[in-house]
This record gives sequence, C-alpha cells and structure tokens, in this order.
Amino acid sequence: MTRVYPQFVIAKFGGTSVADFDSMNRSAGIVLADDHVRLVVLSASAGVTNLLVELSKGLESHDRMDKIDTLRAIQHNIISRLKSPSIVARQIDQLLENIAHLAETASATPSTALSDELVSHGELMSSLLFTEVLREREARAEWFDARKVIRTNSLYGCAEPHLSLVETQVETHLRPRLEQTIVITQGFIGSDENEQTTTLGRGGSDYTASLLGEALHAARVDIWTDVAGIYTTDPRIVAQARRIDHISFSEASNMATFGAKVLHPATLLPAMRKNIPVFVGSSKNTAAGGTLVRRETENPPQYRAIAVRRKQTLLRLHSLHQRPAYAFFADIFTIMAEHQVDVDLVTTTERGIAMALNGTGCTSGDGDTLTTALLTALSAHCQVEIETGLALITVIGNQLPRSPGVCRDAFMESEEYCVRMIFHGASNDNLCFLLPENTADDAIVTLHRRLFE
Ligand code: ADP
Ligand code: ASP
Ligand code: MG
Repeated sequence: MTRVYPQFVIAKFGGTSVADFDSMNRSAGIVLADDHVRLVVLSASAGVTNLLVELSKGLESHDRMDKIDTLRAIQHNIISRLKSPSIVARQIDQLLENIAHLAETASATPSTALSDELVSHGELMSSLLFTEVLREREARAEWFDARKVIRTNSLYGCAEPHLSLVETQVETHLRPRLEQTIVITQGFIGSDENEQTTTLGRGGSDYTASLLGEALHAARVDIWTDVAGIYTTDPRIVAQARRIDHISFSEASNMATFGAKVLHPATLLPAMRKNIPVFVGSSKNTAAGGTLVRRETENPPQYRAIAVRRKQTLLRLHSLHQRPAYAFFADIFTIMAEHQVDVDLVTTTERGIAMALNGTGCTSGDGDTLTTALLTALSAHCQVEIETGLALITVIGNQLPRSPGVCRDAFMESEEYCVRMIFHGASNDNLCFLLPENTADDAIVTLHRRLFE
C-alpha cells in the first residue's frame, strides 16, 4: 500500500534572514502566512559562523574576548526586542558561556571535533531566539535539536549523512511533533554515532532542509535568502543578471556545484531523489517571487547560467619516468584516491596531467586539499607545478558540446583574459575554464553580456 504523506512544506532561512530582530520577525511572518509550513530550518545569524570558526582556530585571550563580545551583542540586540525575554536570555547566556569555555580549550588544543561543537552554537542560538519570536506572535512553536535526526559519519567539518538513519530518526522523533506544532530546528549541524556534534560544511543549512524534506516526503522545500531566486549569474557581480523562474534539478545542481553560492552543492540531491520541488526567494521581498527548481523545465535553453568558483588551484604533473600513459595516470589517480582529493576537472597529454582543484568547503581547516603528504607522494612519480589564485568560470547549459558556436560564444572576447585551461566535452551541460582570479569578475560581465543580454 502506498502511504499518503501530509503536505508539509519546509522553510529554510539563511543568515541574513535571521540576522537581527526585524529580519527574524519578517521571516516569522513568512512562516505564519502558509499553514503548510510545519518545519523551519535556520542558519546562524549573519556573521556568527565566521566568528565561531575564528574562535575554533584558537585565539589569544584578548582576541577571544573581542569576538565573544561581538557574538553577545548580536544575540542581545535581538533579546532586547523581545516582550518577555527572561527564559531565552538565560539559555543564550548559557550557550555564550559554553562558547567561551570551548574557545579557551581550542586555544590550547584545537581539533576538528571541538570546532564542530563550538561552531554549532550559532544555529543553536538563532533557533532558540526564532522560536521565541514565533511564540510572541501567538504561534505554537517548539524548538527541536537537529542533532537527534541528522545522523552523520565522523568526518568533522564536512560530515556525510547516513540517509536511512536520518529517515528512521525523523519518523520517530520529528514527524509526530509536526502534527502538533511548528517545529524550529537548526541547519548545518548533526551528530555522529558517539553523539558528538558534526557539521555538514559551510553553507550546509540548505542541505539540512532538503535532507529533512526527503525524510519527511515534503511537498516543497523553500529556501529563503537575500536574493529573489536563482539568477543567470551572481547578481552581485552582474547587475543585469536575470532571474530564472523555472529551472531543472540538474541545471540548478550544476550551478551549485560550480560555485553559485545561493544553494549548497549537495542541496538538490535529496530533492531529486524524492522529486520535491525547491523554491528560492528573498525573505526581504516575498512579493518579488522567486525560482522554482523541479525535475523538468519546458524548452531548456542552450545557455542557462554562469557560475564561478574562486580560490582554485591548478596542479600540473609531468611524468619523470618512461612509463606508458595508462600506468602513469593509474599511479596519479591512486594517490589522489588515497589522499581523498576530489578531482573534478582534468586534462591530459601523454606524459602530463593537469587538474583544477577546489577547496574542501569544510567548516574547519583552511580548506586546502594540497597537503604536504599528498605533494610528497606525487613527487615520487612526477614533477609537480602548482599555480594558485585562479578562478573557475563555468557556462551552464544544455547539450553544449553538440551545439555549434559554443566555443566562439564563450571565448570570442577572451583575448583580454589569460585563459589558463579549458574543460569541454566530458559533460553535456557545462564548459569550464580557469583564469587568474583578479580578472574573473570582468570576464563574467563580458560573458554574461554576450550570452544573456
Ligand atoms: P544564505 O545565508 O541565505 O544561505 P548565501 O549568501 O549563502 O545566503 O547565498 C545567497 C547569495 O548567493 C546571494 O547573495 C548571491 O550573491 C549569491 N549567488 C551566487 N550565485 C548566484 C546566482 N546565480 N543567483 C542568485 N544568487 C547567487
Ligand atoms: N551557518 C553556516 C555557515 O555560515 C551554515 C549556513 O549558513 O548554511 O556556513
Ligand atoms: Mg547559504
């Protein structure tokens, strides 16, 4: 028998949508305007996670106090606008005390596990405050600890969820509550089998929302942010960028993978598995509408969007030995696998391999994939050249290698730029190239004008 699931909608609010009391109040209005919204997933208030990440690296006492004062000010500015703040003020002060204690420990012995514990406090605080804001608007709202249901492995800083465990935990602990009240929970955080706090990587709250959407068979996941949808490119770079009203899962997923920060790269995977539409809109301007991401769109265009990833590294490897190409490639990719380096873009010649490496996106650590151990292992097989300070620009579209004129369109005006490497043909949906990071914005403006304006 197929089970019929209630038509829950999940609303996720990012950092700027819960930055202060007025933003929280506006976001609370969005929740209350739609009876189907039963579960709210929150990020930390804007700026809070960055402060906590700094603290987790271990700071001198004076710097620590400074950061904790800034955190306290953000929380107390919100508390000061509540009508009856005493209980939540006590809870927040307790969390601020924990932060001070954990930050002190981090300055003596930093670790990725400690970092996740510390950084999780941002979401714990914003969700407590938001629950109070909703209650003051007469809503039945209950705070819920996401770590009970988002069960992950122990890769602190970029933990991976155990999907079947998430599903059973959600059935047991979360679904029954949704029938009674609106539930407010945290994005980004989870727990491992030892009940240690983990995080899903920077920007991971979007991913939490879609994971919970998948487990609950939600009717829709709404991502409320500071832009009114997904645009043809980052509207902060190109003012003429156009909103895309409807986009397919695979197109939007490609955009997120190649750097469109509006969605965490993994967000659309759970939505795709259960065919759950994802809406993206601005919490500051709901009237502006937004983008609906769903399985298919009508008439997919040749060019859909331009995305950019910064801080890219180009790694060029030249074989030192007279070995057949297949043996050299096998050696290199074995080393990459041993060091768990995600290589997504590669070009090769008979005795050389070049690859573009992305940062890890993990909460802790400096995000650098090129460790000393990796470089030592590679140096035994090849000469290693490293070039940093690059950006990867990606044109996302449909059937690109089969459409005539794509390279002309992408590179017609590129003589002004030093294109370091081009990746084209392996995928039907994108064409990527690397160039120096300081020329990336100009190149995107030029390319956007040519492809979309
Ligand atoms: P939140 O804190 O709500 O999760 P983010 O800062 O993570 O918000 O994501 C929203 C930002 O994503 C926007 O302010 C915008 O600058 C950026 N962005 C990058 N690419 C795009 C795009 N193609 N469309 C819309 N926004 C984009
Ligand atoms: N607060 C976390 C971050 O800043 C997660 C998120 O906002 O999605 O990375
Ligand atoms: Mg985000």
